[in-house]
Amino acid sequence: MPHPVLKTETVDSLCPYCGVGCQVTYHVKDDKIIYTDGRDGPANLSRLCVKGRFGFDYTHHPDRLTKPLIRIEGVAKDPAILNGGDAFGQFREATWEEALGHAAASLESTCEEFGADAIAGFGSAKGSNEEAYLFQKLMRTAFKTNNVDHCTRLCHASSVAALMEGIGSGAVTAPFTDAEKADVILVIGARPSQNHPVASTYIKAAKRDGAKLIVLDPRGQALSRHADYGVQFKPGADVALLNAMLHVIITEDLVDHAYIEQRVNGFEEFSQHIKTFTPERMAEKCGVDAGTIRAIARTFAQAKRAIIFWGMGVSQHTHGTDNARCLIALALITGNVGRPGTGLHPLRGQNNVQGASDAGLIPMVLPDYTRVDDDFGRGRFETVWQMALNPVPGLTVVEIMHAALAGDVRAMYIMGENPAMSDPDLNKARRALASLDHLVVQDIFMTETAMLADVILPATSFYEKTGSFTNSNRQVQLGRQVLPPPGDAREDLIIIQDIAKRLGLDWHYKNTAHVFEEMRRVMPSHAGISHQRLEREGSVTYPCTSEEHAGEEILFGEGFPMASGKARLVPAQTLAPDEEPDEAYPFILTTGRMLEHWHTGAMTRRASVLDALEPGPVIALHPKDLAQLGLVAGDGVTLTSRRGTLTAATRADSDVPQGVVFLAFAFHEAAANLLTNPSLDPFGKIAELKYCAVKVEKT
Ligand code: SF4
Repeated sequence: MPHPVLKTETVDSLCPYCGVGCQVTYHVKDDKIIYTDGRDGPANLSRLCVKGRFGFDYTHHPDRLTKPLIRIEGVAKDPAILNGGDAFGQFREATWEEALGHAAASLESTCEEFGADAIAGFGSAKGSNEEAYLFQKLMRTAFKTNNVDHCTRLCHASSVAALMEGIGSGAVTAPFTDAEKADVILVIGARPSQNHPVASTYIKAAKRDGAKLIVLDPRGQALSRHADYGVQFKPGADVALLNAMLHVIITEDLVDHAYIEQRVNGFEEFSQHIKTFTPERMAEKCGVDAGTIRAIARTFAQAKRAIIFWGMGVSQHTHGTDNARCLIALALITGNVGRPGTGLHPLRGQNNVQGASDAGLIPMVLPDYTRVDDDFGRGRFETVWQMALNPVPGLTVVEIMHAALAGDVRAMYIMGENPAMSDPDLNKARRALASLDHLVVQDIFMTETAMLADVILPATSFYEKTGSFTNSNRQVQLGRQVLPPPGDAREDLIIIQDIAKRLGLDWHYKNTAHVFEEMRRVMPSHAGISHQRLEREGSVTYPCTSEEHAGEEILFGEGFPMASGKARLVPAQTLAPDEEPDEAYPFILTTGRMLEHWHTGAMTRRASVLDALEPGPVIALHPKDLAQLGLVAGDGVTLTSRRGTLTAATRADSDVPQGVVFLAFAFHEAAANLLTNPSLDPFGKIAELKYCAVKVEKT
């Protein structure tokens, strides 16, 4: 309804930030968003957090890119520009015709000269399903490369690896709203009050109504204050803690034998493996006393319905897949997958990280998780797309950066991602980006990555286009256009098609809905969803296999999509983090997000309310560590790791354990990833963003 006094127009859409997928009504006047209201969506029931409520005005920011830009001939790409300088001065304005021609020709000539795998592309978890689908289709059909990935590699790739191996599917098995049906809720390595605030309201409501809440996190957090057990364990000791819990459950015979008998393989070997992980032996390793480990294990196992939520505190480790394997085992041996109020829920970060993964922005799989090396599955796509595809899995995000530095990847197309801020070991990643022969960046701001581009294509923000988005609950919803694009900025979907056309691809999509029609043809899990149905119903959960199918909120009530129909237990060893503190670098750095700031900060730092709340980088330390270093809160410190150095003010935070420092990665002035360790989990290929050794010195 228009506002009676302000006389606004209203558009029903979504929040552009996190994977909760809140539905929002935008109130618009004179092509400006004035304010927002929460809508009664299935994920938010009209609730919004501070980002959804106040984080919209970045779209009106004067920094928006409104003209295509081409690097001025002779101006070298130098990562030093990221430390300050006239980034725009490196470029000249161009027409769309010239910029698109230049972008397409440079990618094509690289492919012709150096081969398909000299090209790589990063799509975006902030774009729509349709954009993700067309982007990966472009990379796979125009260049015949599977070097196409996105930021899921930096968030839940290890969770997905463990879920695929253990239960045959990488998506959540139950929505976060099912917390309200659970007797016990286990949250580990996630901070939903900061990063998924509306999802956390269901957890808190469940606790208020009698559920037991266990929060396991090396740092203290807001949700712990509601918990029956708010347990801080040693950073990197997830497997030690979880294996000790599994030991208690198995040795005290608290397992669900009938469930295991019918639905789980590998229990005998798993029980043998877990024998030595006694709570007494693991207590020192994980920093939690044996009595507490026994108590939380019993609480979890004795629940009729238990649900597990986890986040990047679990996944962003070189042993991230092992961490997730333990969580899957906890749910399986206690019979907690496949019923309301039970399940495994890795909380998704960005608004469309689930959908971008479903749509095939992953180097080893086509849409709907069809392996590129599966001849039959790939054949289905070859028939619809009418061309042969590359059967060899491509490189992942960090591997692409390594290949760029080695000169093997020579050109990239990056749409809506900012690896010059989000990748680990940024000095190296930035050198890799600068070393490319050609870099095409499509974005809404002059991001740190765009500063190293050859061609910049000005794109539309979330509010300036229509498309479907899939939240953490597997709910597909429509984001509707609220505003016209500024200046000459164009919709991403149109830009991708314009590039495809210049590469000889004869695509004739009439609109976004038309792209989705092709998606549902090749993605059986989405066959029953269409834009018309989304308009009608507001939200449809996949898998949804026909127009008549309501969609499945709870997965695996009967069997698992594994060859045997049964899930598989995979034992995990306790492995040390890749780089431990020592005399030279005595502190552990852990990185993450904060309530007000989102990922690399490109959006939230240009949202006036959010930026006013948290205007700059702060290095959080325990008050005792501050005192020992002779510091008071607010003093400047230099953080140095083996890979880089940065300076920022300190903040006293007793939620941060002694010996640890926390810094959000949203701040370009003190980019946390200058310091982080690029070592990878061998299964999910995710970097150890939650743990590296640093020293702290007064500035
Ligand atoms: Fe947006 Fe997530 Fe906040 Fe909802 S919880 S308003 S989706 S940031």
